[in-house]
Amino acid sequence: MNAEQEQVILAVHVRGLDGMCAGCRAWWARLTPYPCWQAEWATSRQARAITARFLDGVR
Ligand SMILES: [Zn+2]
Repeated sequence: MNAEQEQVILAVHVRGLDGMCAGCRAWWARLTPYPCWQAEWATSRQARAITARFLDGVR
């Protein structure tokens, strides 16, 4: 997995009008409350990458 794939996941797995994940419904016809585990995973990965970038800048 790389940053690009996280971007794609975050772009697809967005909150639908009913609070369900639009990406999960589109990809698997699955009703998942947002944030689904994929959105959470991508978000946590991104947060970690941003933190790492920040720490690199400080050093
Ligand atoms: Zn989803």
